Amino acid sequence: MSQKLHAETLCIQGGYSPASGEPRQIPIIQSTTFKYATSEDMGKLFDLEAEGYFYSRLANPTCDAVAARIAALEGGTAAMLTGSGQAANFFAMFNICSCGDHIVSSTSIYGGSFNLLNVTMRRMGIEVTFVDPDCSEEELSAACKPNTKLLFGETIANPALTVLDIEKFARVAHAHGVPLIVDNTFATPINCRPFEWGADIVTHSTTKYLDGHGVAVGGCIVDSGKFDWTKYPDKFPGLCTPDESYHGVTYTQRFGLAGAFITKCTAQLMRDLGSIQSPQSAFYLNLGIESLPLRMRQHCDNAQKIAEFLQSNEKVTWVRYCGLKGDKYYDLAQKYLPNGSCGVISFGLVGGRKAAETFMKHLKLGSIETHVADSRTCCLHPASATHRQMTDAELEACGVGADLIRLSCGLENAEDLIADLAQAIEKV
Ligand SMILES: *Cc1c(COP(=O)(O)O)cnc(C)c1O
Repeated sequence: MSQKLHAETLCIQGGYSPASGEPRQIPIIQSTTFKYATSEDMGKLFDLEAEGYFYSRLANPTCDAVAARIAALEGGTAAMLTGSGQAANFFAMFNICSCGDHIVSSTSIYGGSFNLLNVTMRRMGIEVTFVDPDCSEEELSAACKPNTKLLFGETIANPALTVLDIEKFARVAHAHGVPLIVDNTFATPINCRPFEWGADIVTHSTTKYLDGHGVAVGGCIVDSGKFDWTKYPDKFPGLCTPDESYHGVTYTQRFGLAGAFITKCTAQLMRDLGSIQSPQSAFYLNLGIESLPLRMRQHCDNAQKIAEFLQSNEKVTWVRYCGLKGDKYYDLAQKYLPNGSCGVISFGLVGGRKAAETFMKHLKLGSIETHVADSRTCCLHPASATHRQMTDAELEACGVGADLIRLSCGLENAEDLIADLAQAIEKV
C-alpha cells in the first residue's frame, strides 16, 4: 500500500502507524535501554531471533520510525539512521568492503566524502579509483577491477552541481556484479528516487534538506532490497556466509534480500562503531520531513528565479544551475529531476576572487556559512573559506575556481533575495 501513496502523504503518514491509544506523533523514546521479563527473552534479541530493542547504541524506536518513513519515500525495503551523513556513507560502503577491496567513485562528490575515500578508507586498506562522472560507459567499466565492491556517486554533487547519469553508473555496476550507492542528499526523494533508475542503496546527509531547519546533524542509509548478493557469494561473504559474532547467522538467508544489508549494518557496524542518531535529533528530522515537499518546491522556485536574475546581470560572468537552459547538466536534470533539482547555485563575478569577497561582505539576508540546504539563504566563497589553503591553480583543477560563490537559496521571498543580491553586486 505505502508504495502507491504519493510523497506528500508518505512524508506525513509513512513508516509509523500508531495502534489505538498510542501517540499520534512519532514519540521521542529517550531511553538508552529496554527492560525484559526474562534473560531468555533478551537472549533471543541478541541472537536476532526476535525483534525488539535492547540498547540505543544499536537501534531505537524513534530512529527506526523515522528511517521507515525515509525508506517509504525512497521506495526502499529497509533503512537506518546514522549520527551524520559522513557516518551514513562510511557505513554503507564499509558494510560490503574491507581491507584489500576497491571502490569506484565519481570525482564530483562532497569534500568530506572525498576525504573519507581518499584518506581514511585508504588507511584501512580499501583502494579507490576516482572517475569523471561524465566519462563514457567504457571508461567507467575500465575503472572496475576484480576486487571492486561498489560504485559511488551523488545525484547532484555538492558543491560542483554536476548531475549523475544514474542509469549509466547502474548499468556498469551491475555488469560487474556490484551495487551502485547514490548519495541523494541534494535532490531528496521528492525530486529524485535513484532506485527507479537502478541504484541499489541510497544515502543521505539528513542535516541538509530533510531536516531543513539547520537544527540536527544526521544521516540515513536506505536499501532497495533489489541487489542479489547471493549471486556473488565470493564478493560479499559478509552477507552470504555465517557471521560468527552472531552465532552463525547468515544475513541473506535469515532476513532475505529486503533486510540483509540493513540488519548486518545495524548488528555489526552500529554495535562495534556506534554512530546512531539521537532520538531527539530523529524527532526534529521527522518534523522537517513532514513539510519537505512544500519546502523543496519553494527552494527550487527561488533558485530558478535567482539563477535567471544572475544570468541577466552584466557583472555576473557565469552561473551554474541545472534548471537553467544551456547549463551543461540541463538535459540530465530534465531526465532525472523533471520536477526541480535543489536550491543550490554557483556563480562568478567580474573581478573574480576580490569581487566575491566584496559581494559577500555586503549581503544582508544571505549569511556567510559553510552550511547549505536549509531554510535560510546562505553563501560561501570556498577559495577564502573551506578551500583557502589551495592555490588558484589547485582550485581550478578541482573544479572550484577562485571566483566561485556557492549560494544556497532558502525559503525567503524571492524578490527580497534578488533585491539583496542586486545591492551586494552593485558594491562590486
Ligand atoms: C553534507 C554532506 C555530507 C556529509 O553529511 P554530514 O551530515 O555533514 O556528516 C555528505 N554528502 C553530501 C552530499 C553532503 O552535502
